[in-house]
Amino acid sequence: MEHKCRGSYYIKVFGCQMSEHDSEVLAGQLEEMGYQSTEEQAEADIILLVTCCVRETAENKVWGMLGRLRKLKQDNPNLVIGVCGCLPQQKDIGKDIRKRFPHVDLIFGTHNVHELPRFINQLQETRETVLEVWTDTDAAVVENVPVKREKGLKAWVTIMYGCNNFCTYCIVPYVRGRERSRQPDSIAKEIEELVLEGYQDITLLGQNVNSYGKEFVDPAFDFADLLQRLNKIPDINRLRYTTSHPRDFTEKLIEVIAESKHVCENFHLPIQAGSNRVLKKMNRGYTREQYLELTNKIRGKIPNASITTDIMVGFPGETDEDFAETMDIVQKVRYDSAFTFVYNKRPGTPAAKLEGQVPEEIKKKRIQELIALQNKISLENNKALEGDVVEVLVEGPTKNNHDRLGGRTRTNKLVVFDGRSELIGTTVSVKITAGHLTHLDGEY
Ligand code: SF4
Repeated sequence: MEHKCRGSYYIKVFGCQMSEHDSEVLAGQLEEMGYQSTEEQAEADIILLVTCCVRETAENKVWGMLGRLRKLKQDNPNLVIGVCGCLPQQKDIGKDIRKRFPHVDLIFGTHNVHELPRFINQLQETRETVLEVWTDTDAAVVENVPVKREKGLKAWVTIMYGCNNFCTYCIVPYVRGRERSRQPDSIAKEIEELVLEGYQDITLLGQNVNSYGKEFVDPAFDFADLLQRLNKIPDINRLRYTTSHPRDFTEKLIEVIAESKHVCENFHLPIQAGSNRVLKKMNRGYTREQYLELTNKIRGKIPNASITTDIMVGFPGETDEDFAETMDIVQKVRYDSAFTFVYNKRPGTPAAKLEGQVPEEIKKKRIQELIALQNKISLENNKALEGDVVEVLVEGPTKNNHDRLGGRTRTNKLVVFDGRSELIGTTVSVKITAGHLTHLDGEY
């Protein structure tokens, strides 16, 4: 297809992997329209902010950047500035953006990222701010939207949208709508094309991938079946998925992962809290006993699996005893790594209205204790790998030393070793010589 260059675009992503994926869809559409990407904001004809509202810090960064862009718009009135993603999807925020930042031209949500070309055309015709946030959470799943991916080895493929879980601290179900799964054929086709283009490490994305397919007319086809099918794609190298909810992780799924050569042995299972009382208030749908049973089953079937997690401290009403149970479960599971968070109120969620908000100093003390414990375990786990030979997909030279290469194990650990640049993009065997907190040293 021949393209006439219409100008350049700059996309800034604030937030999670879902926003990363949205940005790929947006870039794909802009490229199809004839725009080219630029690294320089000042050069761009279109600047898009892809936002996430899960973390308050990300939200504040968006406001900061919108403020700074005012000057660019004064210098170049033809510049198109857009804000999309989770943030405008929240009640009245779209209108608020239009009022506070009149230099913003496009405001749209998570359900209509595929409509960007129409918005741009409409703006060019009317010269008036386009504000379109679909509130219909059942918006049809849109297939075959062009997606542009950064050159490299890794690609992300959305397999489902939305979430039905309503954890009481989380805004996602309100802004991303109900669960909707893509058709297996369409997912397989997208991945086949990615493999042909040279992508080797493919991550399936969804807020809760384990409930994939639940709304299909033939619900017998579930996430385990999808993995089994994708595992057979010719020349596929590595398949990953995120995020999986511990409640819906079936035995069948563990079996399928154990047997599927290309599905990596990396289990990210967000525990969030170790106390049953807190888990219940969070509406997580499992107990600590059920969670431990699950991790034991995984380790029983796949002894070299890595298990990682998300943990939140300071949920409303969390007592010293509740926190001690979180520390206890971390010690029992011995996670390879953990994303640790301090609970922050998200307006519009049930937890924001709960009594017993935990004072900041206590939250701070707890998170420090938790991080210290997790760091100790991560280091011990990595040291235990010394002497092992692991499979590494080589990604590129390390930032600080170009003679050293970095790559990932199937368990998603970073390995650094001396090697020639020809190895980039290949899968090699590396002997681990030293385990550190965040990476492993190796010898090729
Ligand atoms: S599973 Fe819970 S935390 Fe995850 S997106 Fe759904 S509601 Fe939010």
